[in-house]
Amino acid sequence: MNPAAMGLLLFVSLTLFTFSVTRRFLPLFVMQPDNRLDNKRERAISVLKLFFGQLRFLRPFERVHGIAHVMIFWGAVVVTLSTVQMAGRGFSADFHLPGFGDSRVGLTYVFLKDLFTLSIMAGCTMAFVNRVFFRPARMILSAEALVILNWIFWMMVMDLLYESTLFILVPDHPEAHAAFLGVFGKNILMGMGLTADSPITSQMHAVGCWGHLILGLSFLNYLPYCKQFHEVTSLPSIFMRSLKKKGALTLQDRENEDAIFGVGKIEDFSWKRGLDMYSCAECGRCRANCPAHLTDKPLSPMAVIMDEREHLKKKTNLMCRAALHQVKKEPEKARAVLEEWSGEELVGGVISDETIWACTTCGHCVANCPLMIEHVDNIIDMRRHLVQVESRFPGELKQCFKGFENLSNPWSLASNTRGDWFKGLGVQTPEENPDFEYLFYVGCAGSFDDRYKKVSRALVGLMQKAGVNFACLGNDEMCCGETARRLGNEYLAQHMINFNLEMFDSIGVKKIVTACPHCFNTFKNEYPQFGKTFQVIHHTELIRQLTRKRVFAAGKKFSGKGPVVYHDSCYLGRYNDLYDIPRDIARFIPGVKLLEAERRERTSFCCGAGGGRMWMEEKIGKRINTERFEQLFATGARTIATACPYCMIMLDDAMKEKGMEEEVEIMDLAQMMLRSFED
Ligand code: SF4
Ligand code: SF4
Repeated sequence: MNPAAMGLLLFVSLTLFTFSVTRRFLPLFVMQPDNRLDNKRERAISVLKLFFGQLRFLRPFERVHGIAHVMIFWGAVVVTLSTVQMAGRGFSADFHLPGFGDSRVGLTYVFLKDLFTLSIMAGCTMAFVNRVFFRPARMILSAEALVILNWIFWMMVMDLLYESTLFILVPDHPEAHAAFLGVFGKNILMGMGLTADSPITSQMHAVGCWGHLILGLSFLNYLPYCKQFHEVTSLPSIFMRSLKKKGALTLQDRENEDAIFGVGKIEDFSWKRGLDMYSCAECGRCRANCPAHLTDKPLSPMAVIMDEREHLKKKTNLMCRAALHQVKKEPEKARAVLEEWSGEELVGGVISDETIWACTTCGHCVANCPLMIEHVDNIIDMRRHLVQVESRFPGELKQCFKGFENLSNPWSLASNTRGDWFKGLGVQTPEENPDFEYLFYVGCAGSFDDRYKKVSRALVGLMQKAGVNFACLGNDEMCCGETARRLGNEYLAQHMINFNLEMFDSIGVKKIVTACPHCFNTFKNEYPQFGKTFQVIHHTELIRQLTRKRVFAAGKKFSGKGPVVYHDSCYLGRYNDLYDIPRDIARFIPGVKLLEAERRERTSFCCGAGGGRMWMEEKIGKRINTERFEQLFATGARTIATACPYCMIMLDDAMKEKGMEEEVEIMDLAQMMLRSFED
């Protein structure tokens, strides 16, 4: 091989690659700071599990595609070393990496390299066939993806050609003992008449070597301009993934005067969100079960990330210039450069308001993205800008925000009637029972919605039956702030949270039980952001504890309308991993025949109410609650068990809309449990 040509090839391609990568990363310097280097041990474990272990590709969810990815990924890791070795042989024919060569390690590597070359070729073929013939709905058929698969496949073919002809030219080459694939190729070529002396053998050897390297290096240079850039960014992206609790939103800093309220421009995002945009592999796993996307709303979490990435790319020149000022510690100049942008704005332009408001924050996208991209925080950041900076939000929310501000509930119902639901039940307030063990935090729906007031009463009935020492705040209860926070009204939410914290402190709250997964999630995962932790349990956890302690003997046979299906609430399941406990309660009730929906547990389908969607009109596409009701009804169940007020209200509405009240009933698990005793 010609060392000068090899040197030139490497110099040109690596210089161009460095330039392209610098251009991609420089804009991140003008984005907002975000400390992602804490807790390095946990981060390293994430890399082992999620990057090297490829755990999110091996879930039952579309496993064939996942296996193809793992085969290509691991193949690429192993074969890259061989490519480095091959480039070195352009300068010295005997070059090998330290410790390799004809040592035991070297020969083991050669064997593995051949094995993984096969794995890449098989993986590319599987992925190609899957995409073209068996493409799941989540995926898009992009020409780019097919070109990339072919590119990688032919790189492997060239490598094989290089190795097979090497063994013809050097019959006693030490690697021939381990390179089973190369020897197989050599035998085929020799069978076709190639010998060490035929000039075509040397020519094919050169084609294999140069072909592999040119394809490899040109691929490297293509990476920063295509979706495959995740090959560069995914490791740092996963290492610097969010370590905050699953159910918590990012805290908006209200104390810092320079802090930006939400995201209106691409540079308002943190640099990590920018890195995430580059990392998106366009696999579509995030949208596979997105309730908004599947009911034809103008929201696909994948499209949000891709559109943001395209916008970031359009602003690259400007942001690079600004970043250079930033690096020189000239923030004023950097800001002035960014002000020059005259193109489309991010919020309201690249990402429409309808897209931003369509999200139910169900969390499916985040839970399934193999690159750990944080779609929900991304969308909430934009809502925060719309609400707090532009005061622009769907008209229906005006009343809702007003209700929170004045009466601490979204329906604007009189706060001095909040505790009316427990009149005559013998429930005590903290004043009457200062030594309460549990604060039963009822929540807005449990206090004001007629359907869920029944659940509050059922839970009181169960707790009284079991002798639980609890108290309710009644009219002194305030909203927990969850909905205002998810609607982007962070200022209002933090005000409510701080108010509650002071009140909880004053009455000595240590344990909270609630029948609302939204309140539960906020108390458990978000209140600690404000410096306070309580023992928080959901009512299903309390009921299960009581059944385990044999406080409840099994009741009588459940007299429902038919078999039961449990609908997983996103905030109980996906955000807090409570999948088995509600099912255990259903099974505890005699006579319950428990069925399962196809979309359940981790891949459950949202009812459509989360993220404040409960208070917004749903004018586009099919109603999410109708879709979910149909999925549950299709199981053959005639009792739909829930453990969340939003889910109950949404499914109940869907049932009534279909006029199926006679056929189906929607019940909370606490009601089912109590009914089995009452019967
Ligand atoms: S949180 Fe749910 S509704 Fe929102 S984008 Fe993700 S999957 Fe879709
Ligand atoms: S955001 Fe994640 S899940 Fe969605 S397409 Fe990109 S990589 Fe795939």
